[in-house]
Amino acid sequence: MSTNVKSFYRVYRPKTFHEVVGQEFITKTLSNQIASQKIGHAYLFCGTRGTGKTSVAKIFADAVNCENFHDGQVCGKCAWCQSPNKTMDVFEIDAASNNGVDAVRDLIESVKYPPVVGKYKVYIIDEVHMFSGAAFNALLKTLEEPPAHVIFVLATTEPHKLLPTVQSRCLRFNFQNVALGEIEKVVKKVFQNEKLTADDAAVNLIAKEGQGSVRDALSFADTVAAYCGQEPITVAAINRVVGGLDANIFATLVAQIVATDTKGVRETVNQIFNSSTGTARILAGTLAAIKDAYVKEAKPRLATALRIFANLETTLKYANDPHGYFETAALVACGA
Ligand SMILES: [Zn+2]
Repeated sequence: MSTNVKSFYRVYRPKTFHEVVGQEFITKTLSNQIASQKIGHAYLFCGTRGTGKTSVAKIFADAVNCENFHDGQVCGKCAWCQSPNKTMDVFEIDAASNNGVDAVRDLIESVKYPPVVGKYKVYIIDEVHMFSGAAFNALLKTLEEPPAHVIFVLATTEPHKLLPTVQSRCLRFNFQNVALGEIEKVVKKVFQNEKLTADDAAVNLIAKEGQGSVRDALSFADTVAAYCGQEPITVAAINRVVGGLDANIFATLVAQIVATDTKGVRETVNQIFNSSTGTARILAGTLAAIKDAYVKEAKPRLATALRIFANLETTLKYANDPHGYFETAALVACGA
């Protein structure tokens, strides 16, 4: 999906345990487990959005496979570290988009085979609570007795939705919301690396916007940086960004959907996502505009669009790429 905004979160995603912010207890415990070769076979990473669950899971998958993991760091030199084929042994499954039994059946089938490059096959299942009951039942037995070469890392924002039988089979780590001061440091470092000027008040405001999530703070930093260009980033500029979304933009989007103007739809969706408006507000604005248009003229395409966007709420909430999902939905609505 095209976007004008460069994603700081992706570029500055931690690549080692040392780079992970605000989860020292967890990274230290995992490092020690690897060093002492007391690795579990099923982990449960709990915590709110953007606290580092998936990043830590990826680093862990890398670390368990490095032949000379030392001092919390991979060696960078062994066969695993040098391999271009790590994805043959490390799997990421997004339960939010893959809640079916079929996905789990594929997984169970694949678990049987030994790793290709490293010592372990690591299955990272994001938003695992989104799996259906049947999918969980299929997974349970494997989770109970995984082959020696398999490690599961289940990540979730809503652990209370998991069956006790799943929870009891996993080693649980609770990811903390990241402290404001820690997020400020990250934002500052990113701006320095990007050679962007920002005063302390602006950095503080951006960090606050993250509400404990490094990812959300950096997404907001993306938006602000894109808006400011080469100008210094200030509180005044941030306030302009926050208030910057034209209320008529959703009506424009709906009109473009009705007119099957796919190029216009893409541009408008970009504009919407380049503002700092959260996905919940974006979806609410879109639905309201569709309903408005429907009242004026009950076109079948509007009814279909309403259904498409109304079904998007959960997806957007958990999606790593809400912009992409939203754009796809808008384009599907165009073709309806
Ligand atoms: Zn290595």
